[in-house]
Amino acid sequence: MKISSTEIMEKMVSLCKRRGYIFQSSEIYGGITSCYDYGPLGVELKKNIKEQWWQSMVQFRDDVEGLDAAILMHPRVWEASGHVEGFTDPLVDCKKCKHRFRADQIATPDKCPDCGGELTDIRKFNLMFKTHMGPIEEQASIVYLRPETAQGIYVNFLNVQKAARQKIPFGIAQIGKAFRNEITPGNFTFRTREFEQMEMQFFVKPGTDAEWFQYWKEQRMTWYHKLGITKEKLKFHQHSKEELAHYAAAAFDIEYEFPFGSLELEGIHNLLMIRRKSILSHISSRRRLAWIELC
Ligand SMILES: [Zn+2]
Repeated sequence: MKISSTEIMEKMVSLCKRRGYIFQSSEIYGGITSCYDYGPLGVELKKNIKEQWWQSMVQFRDDVEGLDAAILMHPRVWEASGHVEGFTDPLVDCKKCKHRFRADQIATPDKCPDCGGELTDIRKFNLMFKTHMGPIEEQASIVYLRPETAQGIYVNFLNVQKAARQKIPFGIAQIGKAFRNEITPGNFTFRTREFEQMEMQFFVKPGTDAEWFQYWKEQRMTWYHKLGITKEKLKFHQHSKEELAHYAAAAFDIEYEFPFGSLELEGIHNLLMIRRKSILSHISSRRRLAWIELC
């Protein structure tokens, strides 16, 4: 008898709850979609993973510095990064059942997958959570919950370099919360609207990037092996030309074979051109545990 992937996931979600790893957020009020709370064992597990990562990426190395930047940043950061303009998903609504879909994820472009009803035109939907800073709700006080931790690293590049007396090649790492207003979250904690990233940007001289890229690819895969994750379930996925963002020279994901498919656990990208404008605006995958940036 073969057990389906949906059944495996159901069993796992219920086991996680019973053992105190992960609970549905606000469960007594009926729960809130795709938000989860880590219980007594879950918080320890998560802490251990972060500590392992921090030790190997920051504390045991002389060429990577740590950082803990604020979640709220100057709104101009997100204009310069291209997120205000370009960090969007194409959205359609069903005129009949009112269900909402990502236009690029439905098989029939003009029919509702749930009821067959007519769909609205595609609208661009920005994935950043918007809020207001200060007591007056006016345009000037709009701030965003960061959709990624990378920008905190970029804007502090000179501060860190000077304070730590680093010379290129060196990296900056941080672990922190990020938020994306996903239209279609799912697969338990794999795709959530609030999540934690572990991220490292490694800055190198142009021309040495291919070498460093290879080095970090090996380092990162070895890290998973050392943690004891089943080797056969881990593999590299190289981004094809079509998948590759325009500012990236090469990109590999480390994929893990989840019950719901082989999906990205971490992205390792060789970003040849750092340009404030439009950089990272195409990134839509999360659970990125680390990522090297080579410029
Ligand atoms: Zn419908």
